[in-house]
Amino acid sequence: MTDAPIFDPAAWGLSDRQAALATRARDLAAEKFAPRAAEYDREARFPTANYRDMADAGLLGICIPEAEGGLGADLKTYMIVAAEIGRYCGATALTFNMHVSSCLWTGDLLDRLDLDADTRARHHAMRRLHYRRILDEGKIYAQPFSEGGAAAAGFKAFGTTALKLDGGWRITGKKIFASLSGHADYYGALCTALHSPDERPSRRNTMYIAVPADADGVRVEGDWDPLGMRGTVSRTLIFEDVFVPDEAQLMPLGVYPAAASRWPHMFMTLTPTYMGIAQAAYDFTVAYLRGEVPGTPPVKRRMYPTKQLAVAQMRVMLEQTKAVWFQAISEARPDPGADSLMRAKVAQFTVMENANALAQLAIRTCGGQSMLRSLPLERLYRDSRCGSLMLPWTAELCLDMLGKGALYQPGETDDD
Ligand SMILES: Cc1cc2nc3c(=O)[nH]c(=O)nc-3n(C[C@H](O)[C@H](O)[C@H](O)COP(=O)(O)OP(=O)(O)OC[C@H]3O[C@@H](n4cnc5c(N)ncnc54)[C@H](O)[C@@H]3O)c2cc1C
Repeated sequence: MTDAPIFDPAAWGLSDRQAALATRARDLAAEKFAPRAAEYDREARFPTANYRDMADAGLLGICIPEAEGGLGADLKTYMIVAAEIGRYCGATALTFNMHVSSCLWTGDLLDRLDLDADTRARHHAMRRLHYRRILDEGKIYAQPFSEGGAAAAGFKAFGTTALKLDGGWRITGKKIFASLSGHADYYGALCTALHSPDERPSRRNTMYIAVPADADGVRVEGDWDPLGMRGTVSRTLIFEDVFVPDEAQLMPLGVYPAAASRWPHMFMTLTPTYMGIAQAAYDFTVAYLRGEVPGTPPVKRRMYPTKQLAVAQMRVMLEQTKAVWFQAISEARPDPGADSLMRAKVAQFTVMENANALAQLAIRTCGGQSMLRSLPLERLYRDSRCGSLMLPWTAELCLDMLGKGALYQPGETDDD
C-alpha cells in the first residue's frame, strides 16, 4: 500500500505541479530509498545509488529554472517534495538539500531579487555552466559552509579565503561537517574574497564558488562515525591553495551577502528532511500498534488507553508542526516582515525539536521490540536529533533570536 502524502493536495491547496512532484519523490523514495536506508546508515556510507535514481527521475534539477532545462521548483515546492524523501531516508534528503541549495540560491531566489541588468546577465552566464553539469552529466554539488567558528552562524567573515589571481581565485581553508565529502563532484563553498593577501576579511566580501572535487589541493580528512545522519558522510574538507577559474563562481561577487540577508527563509531548507522524519515516526507508531509492521510480533496493542493517548498526543504534535511549517514556507519571499521572519524561526525550531520528540514518544509507546536495528524507528530517533544542530538556525539560536526579537525593537538597547 502506498503512503498518503504528508500534505494532501486538496486539503493544503497544493498546485497540480507541487502534487505531481511530491508524488514522484514519494514513489521513488518509498520503493528504492527505504529498503537501502538501513545499510547506508549502518555503514555510514553515502547513498550513491539513490543519487543515480534521483538523476534519472530529473530530481537533481528540481530547482533549476525551467528556462534552463530544469523542473523550475520554487522554495515552497522544493520543501514539500524534499519532506517526502525525508520520510524514507534522512541522509538522502539532507544531502539532497545541500545539492539543491546550489540551484535554488542561483535560480528562483536570485531571479526574485532586483539585480541590475549587467549583474543579472553575468549571473545567468555563470549559473548556466553549473546547471549544464547537473542536467547533462548528473553532477552533484555539496554546500560546505561550516568552519567551527562563528562564520556559519552569520557572526564573522568566513575563514576560508579566495585570493584573486589572474583568471581565477586561490582558495585556502577548512570546512567541517561537509556533507557529501568525497562524493560530491563540486563543493559550493562560501569563502571571503580578498583582492590582496593583507586585505582585512569582511562578510561583505563573502563569495559563493564551486570548487571541483578533483582540483589539486582538495582533500577530505578525518573519519565519520556520528550518532545520526550517518549516510551524509560529513567529513572535513581541506582546500590547500586550490586554483579555481573565474567561471567557477556560482554568483557574481557581492551578490551572496545581499541574497542571504534578503532571503532568510532560505535557511529553512534544512527542515524538510526532519518534517519527513516526524511524519515517519508517527506513521510507524500507528502501523506498529495496529500490528501491521512486517517482522514485528502479531500482537495488537491499540486497545490500551495509554497507547491511544500517546498516539493522540503525537497526532496533535504532528499537525501543529505541519501547520506552522506550511504557513512559514508559504510566506517565503524576499524581504519578509519581522513577524514573518519570527514565524520562520518558530517553524524551524518546531520541526527540528518535534521530529525528535515524536521519535522519542514513538519508541516509548511502541516498546522495546520497536527499537531493534531491524526496524527503522531507532534510525529515525538518531537522525532526528541532528536537526537542532544545523547552523545558522540551530534550535538555540532560534530561541535566542525570537526572545530578542520580541523584547527589543531594532536598535534598542538597555544602556539608558
Ligand atoms: C549531520 C550533519 C550534517 C551537516 N552538514 C553540513 C553541510 O553539508 N554543510 C555545512 O556547512 N554544515 C553542515 N553541518 C554543520 C552544522 O550546520 C553546524 O555547523 C555544526 O553542527 C556546528 O557544530 P559545532 O559544534 O561547531 O557548533 P558551534 O558553532 O560550536 O555551536 C554549538 C552550539 O552553540 C550555539 N551557538 C553557536 N553560536 C552561537 C552564538 N553566537 N550565540 C549563542 N549560541 C551559539 C548553537 O546552538 C550551536 O548548536 C552538518 C551538521 C550535521 C550534524
